[in-house]
Amino acid sequence: MTKQKVVICGAGIGGLAAALACQRAGWQVDVLERAEQFSHIGAGIQLGPNVTRILQAWGLGRALSEVAAFPSQLQVRDAISGAELGRLRLGEHAVQRYEAPYATVHRGDAHQVLLDAVKLCPDIALHHGVAASGYTETADAVQVTSTQGREWPGDMLLGADGVWSALREWLLADGKPVPTGHLAYRALVAQKTCLNHCAASMSPHGSAPTCTWCNTPYRVATI
Ligand SMILES: Cc1cc2nc3c(=O)[nH]c(=O)nc-3n(C[C@H](O)[C@H](O)[C@H](O)COP(=O)(O)OP(=O)(O)OC[C@H]3O[C@@H](n4cnc5c(N)ncnc54)[C@H](O)[C@@H]3O)c2cc1C
Repeated sequence: MTKQKVVICGAGIGGLAAALACQRAGWQVDVLERAEQFSHIGAGIQLGPNVTRILQAWGLGRALSEVAAFPSQLQVRDAISGAELGRLRLGEHAVQRYEAPYATVHRGDAHQVLLDAVKLCPDIALHHGVAASGYTETADAVQVTSTQGREWPGDMLLGADGVWSALREWLLADGKPVPTGHLAYRALVAQKTCLNHCAASMSPHGSAPTCTWCNTPYRVATI
């Protein structure tokens, strides 16, 4: 029987994860990515046990453990005084309670883990330098057009083209995302230059009326 085909637009974390999920569900996958190549951009992301459980089920637990940090606890502190407001046990406790770890990882490293897995799947074809520019659909098929004028047929189209998604606009026409006025500044520093309370085993967060800071170990707790 011929496999059904899904066309996925966007090869970020969402698109690559969707590709792996669809492939494991028996679909053939075309992933269209407008970038000619990936660069190792980003900072830290946090992966709860609901995420790491799935990565483990896909056989990626080991690859993740080679790049991620696994903080032993998450502390909430007052951003002004530094006083501890609350604490959540992670580490082994999270593994026992949720049957999967709580991890913190550099976005580029998490993306690379998924990318390596995608490259090993014969049913997933990743096409770089292909930007989706529109689509048409019938009752049982869809056809994506790319800026080069090529057409990509499939049984299903999955939009994973990020927060400024063009696909979402074509489908729902609900306008662009509205900026809230909140700003996030990010910085990466070497763990060995940090004070004790920023040590690799901790993941302190802070709260104050006008700001929240988040201080988390990444990349096998070196940054
Ligand atoms: C470069 C980068 C750095 C980031 N850094 C962080 C971080 O440090 N911390 C954090 O928490 N989150 C970060 N994020 C956001 C986080 O990765 C995403 O918000 C989240 O993982 C959701 O991912 P996504 O796959 O839905 O979207 P994205 O990660 O935004 O990926 C969307 C992909 O779709 C591609 N694309 C867009 N339009 C088209 C089109 N028309 N045709 C084909 N492809 C298209 C883009 O090139 C991109 O690769 C970053 C995202 C990016 C792109």
